[in-house]
Amino acid sequence: MDGEPDLYIGGRWCHASDRGTRDVVNPADGSIAAVVDEATPDDATAAIAAARAAFDDGPWPDTAVAERAAVLDRIADLLQRDKEELSLLETRDTGKTLAESRIDIDDVTSVFRYYARLIAVAADRLVDVGDPAIVSRVVREPIGVCVLIAPWNYPLLQMSWKVAPALAAGCTMVAKPSEVTPLSTIAFTHLVEEAGVPAGVVNLVQGSGAVLGEALTTSADVDFISFTGGLATGATISRAAADNVTKVAVELGGKNPHIVFADVATDVAGHSDWDAAVDHVLTGVFLHSGQVCSAGTRLIVEESIADDFVSALAARAETIRMGDGMDPASETGPLVSEQHRAKVESYVQLGISEGAKLITGGARPSDPALADGSFYLPTIFDHCDRSMRIVQEETFGPILTVERFTDEAEAIRLGNDTEYGLAAGVRTSDPARGQRVARALRHGTVWLNDFGYYTAAAEWGGYGKSGNGRELGPSGLAEYQETKHIWHNTAPAPAGWFKG
Ligand code: NAP
Repeated sequence: MDGEPDLYIGGRWCHASDRGTRDVVNPADGSIAAVVDEATPDDATAAIAAARAAFDDGPWPDTAVAERAAVLDRIADLLQRDKEELSLLETRDTGKTLAESRIDIDDVTSVFRYYARLIAVAADRLVDVGDPAIVSRVVREPIGVCVLIAPWNYPLLQMSWKVAPALAAGCTMVAKPSEVTPLSTIAFTHLVEEAGVPAGVVNLVQGSGAVLGEALTTSADVDFISFTGGLATGATISRAAADNVTKVAVELGGKNPHIVFADVATDVAGHSDWDAAVDHVLTGVFLHSGQVCSAGTRLIVEESIADDFVSALAARAETIRMGDGMDPASETGPLVSEQHRAKVESYVQLGISEGAKLITGGARPSDPALADGSFYLPTIFDHCDRSMRIVQEETFGPILTVERFTDEAEAIRLGNDTEYGLAAGVRTSDPARGQRVARALRHGTVWLNDFGYYTAAAEWGGYGKSGNGRELGPSGLAEYQETKHIWHNTAPAPAGWFKG
């Protein structure tokens, strides 16, 4: 950053081979937050070669599990030591509030702690084949060289869901953060080095996905590609990797329904779930200005309460305090870039032209203090339906669409009527109905009377076009492992099949 070398290849910090750099923009005010090295395809190829050598020649893949776990714990300690600095970088880079960035760094830490614990207990499996002379053992081995590609909305968090299990499994890797938000991953890689991860195990190249993509995804030296990002990029990477039959896991976008039943308004002994429902729908869609893969962007609300619910939401949306993420008074920051705001604005125009009813937002904020940042007002469209692109496509901005239903079956049908399947929310005061609907929804995570929470110990991933892998939990480790069956005959004798 700012003159220091930012690429980390084979245990050495270096500049880009063509000395190219990129300006990293602070979306809160349009200023240049940093200048970083911008890797070339040759740099990406060198990083893959370094990871290949580190895997084939060791020692990391064969390092004792307890020692690998200790390194992960050291990384977790260092993340906490540098939490404030990492949080500041994340906020400067993404625009999200400092409070959110601090939570992100705590979550990153918990992922390293979780995989340090899990690898210590992940055991081989003995299979009883009915012959005491045969020892049949199923073992887990590191899959090899991994390419890890992360998006800009949760830069270090998404990268940690890949790096932590990859390190735990004994893999070597090349990490590529988004060109828009590389700062926290660069700082993190310094911590990886400080924690004692051997040279070549973790390599870092940042730069444009369009430029580096081919080198990263078509190399026969790569054993696994883990990608988080948009649907179109995920499909491109899957096609690029197909010729080498390289394993690919893609975590993609979402168009996530949040279903609200009328019983949240039922007053039982002076209490109803109304306020919590309004609050969670609001937070679910407008946190981080909607730049969340699991954002609850489709409100599907029971007709009998719809008007009141949308009014209550709009009133709350209009009080959200936007501002620079560094300001503790800010509740949400800007969109990540001018380019991204232009995309969000085009979706708002599309919604209007499709006949959706604009209830609030639909514009940049008028506050002159926000004029230099890429801010956009929380926006609600009512009277939407599935024929509208604004309901079908991921806008990745602060846009909520409202659809209405009259019975449970219709709510489920609408909730599943999407090509995506990442996450969904259900709000009801009837626990049996809640469980029924949660089971019927074809989404990788369902929140019942809650929204947005996850834990390192539970799997994360999507149905349908939201992806095909799983991160976090035991499955998130298994992605980075090969399964080998070792059949050991301890009393060998001729097979006796051929008689001659
Ligand atoms: P993106 O444009 O698809 O980019 C994601 C990453 O892929 C970036 O590092 C990008 O690099 C890189 N890339 C772009 N083209 C590539 C290519 N041809 N080959 C290899 N890499 C390439 O997505 P984004 O806009 O950064 O992120 C937003 C998307 O991520 C949304 O759709 C969101 O829903 C999804 N997301 C999903 C999850 C999940 O858990 N399912 C979590 C977070 C985000 P550059 O940035 O340098 O172009």
